[in-house]
Amino acid sequence: MELDLQQYLGELETLVNIDSVSSQPSGADRIAAFMKGKFQSIGWTVEEVQLDPSVGPCLTITNRPAQSYDVLLLAHMDTVFPIGTAAKRPFRTDGVRAYGPGVIDCKGGMLSGFYALKALDEKKLLQNASICVFLNSDHEGISSKFSAQINRQLSRRSRYALVLEAGRANGNLVYKRKGIARYEATFHGVAAHAGVDFQKGHSAVEEMAHWILALQSATDLSKETTVNVGRAEGGVTISAVPGEAHASIDIRYYEKEEVDRVTGIMNELAAHPRTKGTHAEYTGGITRPPMLPSEKTMQLCHWIDMIGSELGIPFGWMASGGGSDGSFAAETGTPTIDGLGPVGGGAHSDGEYMEIDTVIPRYRLLCRTIEKIIASS
Ligand SMILES: [Zn+2]
Repeated sequence: MELDLQQYLGELETLVNIDSVSSQPSGADRIAAFMKGKFQSIGWTVEEVQLDPSVGPCLTITNRPAQSYDVLLLAHMDTVFPIGTAAKRPFRTDGVRAYGPGVIDCKGGMLSGFYALKALDEKKLLQNASICVFLNSDHEGISSKFSAQINRQLSRRSRYALVLEAGRANGNLVYKRKGIARYEATFHGVAAHAGVDFQKGHSAVEEMAHWILALQSATDLSKETTVNVGRAEGGVTISAVPGEAHASIDIRYYEKEEVDRVTGIMNELAAHPRTKGTHAEYTGGITRPPMLPSEKTMQLCHWIDMIGSELGIPFGWMASGGGSDGSFAAETGTPTIDGLGPVGGGAHSDGEYMEIDTVIPRYRLLCRTIEKIIASS
């Protein structure tokens, strides 16, 4: 089961050089067409679903018609990078690393997934197995808002879910992830000239400051809960008492009660403004549940450990504070592992890279993991 690395890198170049930012469906369309062609070329069935005109399509890919699946593979076709990024800094390699927008997040892993399934299929190892691959285009920015429902439906019908996001920079795989909740708060005060009418003004920024301090200190590292006011803005000019302000709040958590605790703080603040003449409201909620390991997940980790040591591939396990589509899969109770793509780092930045010498080992690890799951039925 060998992978032709040159062909792989050539196709990865094609994928990376197509900008596929989540908000511009045309790019993800082209990625979807490419992946559709790849899977159809090995005789698999590809169903294209257009969930919303604001995002690219999703692909549900199966090796045969089935009510349930042994393995569900998850990856996303969109990136965070705006149109024009690939033209500015196209795919390139320096022999050791490959670079370019989306090279590991998640185009490399997606391609590895295809080649792993192709190899298993050619070796007739999938004859008694049902495999589903789900590729979405609304992962970045909007947290898979449209595709989460299909992901959950497919996950419920799958024995295991494997996510093709990159292996961490140190090679680790991910067995656990924090959930994410996001809120937008708006503060209303009364604008007034800072010199002439100061006492007529009521500062929305001052009220926001109370919220920021209260929310930041709601972080509880003993429970691994973080609260971050990531964006705060208000007022129009230095010479006026600010009449309006806005803040964006990001909560990462493992226990749902922690989200309730923080929204409780916001409710209390909203009910009792600290700054006279102001009021506030907020919108938002949980965007991704936590990915929590079950006993079966830990068993799968153990299998992957055994395969890794047989193949001589070093890696460890880690929890991550970042969100992935594995969260929706794990939410349904399906054992889910993430980070099975090639190893890399710098996601969402100009420095995004893939370690080229991890492509083949990680591909082998993926092949053997799928094989092991099938054999466990
Ligand atoms: Zn990403």
